Amino acid sequence: MPEKFDCIVVGAGPAGTSCAYELAKAGVNVLLLERGEYPGSKNVMGGVLYRKMMEDIIPEFYKEAPLERPIVEQRFMMMDKESALTFSYKGLEWAQEPFNNFTVLRAKFDQWFAQKAVEQGALLVCETVALECIVEDGRVVGIRTDRPDGDVYADVVVLADGVNSLLAKQLGFHKEWRPDEVALATMEILKLDKKVIEDRFNLEPNQGCTIELFGDATKGILGTGFLYTNKDTLSIGVGTLLSGLIKHKIKPYELLEYVKNHPMIRPYIQGSEPVEYLAHLIPEGGYRSMPKVVGHGVLVAGDAAQLVNAIHREGSNLAMTSGRLAAETIIMAKEYNDFSENMLDHYRVKLMESFVGQDMKKYKDATHHFDKFPQYFERYIPMLNRAASQMFTVDGLSKWEKQKKIWRDIGSAGEKMKLARDVIRAWRVMK
Ligand code: FAD
Repeated sequence: MPEKFDCIVVGAGPAGTSCAYELAKAGVNVLLLERGEYPGSKNVMGGVLYRKMMEDIIPEFYKEAPLERPIVEQRFMMMDKESALTFSYKGLEWAQEPFNNFTVLRAKFDQWFAQKAVEQGALLVCETVALECIVEDGRVVGIRTDRPDGDVYADVVVLADGVNSLLAKQLGFHKEWRPDEVALATMEILKLDKKVIEDRFNLEPNQGCTIELFGDATKGILGTGFLYTNKDTLSIGVGTLLSGLIKHKIKPYELLEYVKNHPMIRPYIQGSEPVEYLAHLIPEGGYRSMPKVVGHGVLVAGDAAQLVNAIHREGSNLAMTSGRLAAETIIMAKEYNDFSENMLDHYRVKLMESFVGQDMKKYKDATHHFDKFPQYFERYIPMLNRAASQMFTVDGLSKWEKQKKIWRDIGSAGEKMKLARDVIRAWRVMK
């Protein structure tokens, strides 16, 4: 007799574990399937974890979770080959409870989080691949796994299997992602003495800093680089749309080496030792690429539903909120013993009303706009750097002369018109 659960959740990342935790807490009999040796073993993130969405699930989790550093400063570097225009926000309010964001290492954090779901009563089964959804009479009724006699059944299945989501694809919820709908990110974890990190990044003990890198960090290709402080390691990485890598014929690890050797970055990481190399896709198609998220007996959450806000490098928080909302819907569906698409559609409605849906809509055209018009990264960031250099170099020229030079640097009247148009267009897609 095959096993039957109230719910099967596929994938023990932030989306799946949030969902399983909430369900188990409410007394729902839930099976959490993970293909990795342990939760987090296959997961990659920069990684900034957002306190609010995690606290919606486990209040004051930061008192016991394996976190690296609370982030007190966020820097943004607009990079050219030998210069960087940098702005930052540092706020000591973020150094105190309840904090804002934390850096985390997913291999540690995901394990801890999944263990919390187990303590609530979820059954976690690792090293088990969900091969396909079992569909009967148009309803998802279970999951076929790669274990012998590995069919498991449930009233409802949650697909939280990450960006590739082969299961949602099998159901026809989405097609193979196009190269302009996913970014490929590569990153390294670099070992560095704790005190050296604090000195280099101007931090008090146990405070953290994130630096986002734009422009030359990706050789002008649409994407970003990042450099984050952990306890005694740094996370450095770079991610660009797959379409950009293909177009520019650049290999992702070449881009990572380029960032590590960039004169604006090299001094931060000097003397560090690589301890881990990771690569992963990020769904960056945005709102217009979101697949169907509800069917008869099935819900889709997190990266599997393309829920990433690439503009603000948010993904784990959207994943957690979607997992939590999926659980709320399932708890309600269980009360009515109705797992039809119509009933489960409450999840889609809640998701779109939440910050997740609202932010996905806000930036619905942003990625495609910046992909279509590469001049923002290729031309305007270097132009900003030249303007800053001009303005801040004291060479006897009057500031009016300098302004005129900067204005001339933009180019012909046509080029100036184009720049003005691009500024307005950028405002429209970001507002
Ligand atoms: P995942 O974390 O991918 O989890 C999916 C899980 O499902 C995995 O454990 C996987 O092993 C499992 N799985 C997959 N298929 C199967 C199967 N068939 N059977 C069983 N198990 C399966 N987000 C942020 O918020 N902040 C950041 O700083 C940040 N930086 C990032 C940097 C990089 C380099 C990358 C790649 C991503 C980054 N993100 C960041 C995005 C963030 O990592 C994701 O949005 C988030 O992990 C999505 O969570 P998820 O649970 O939906 O998917």
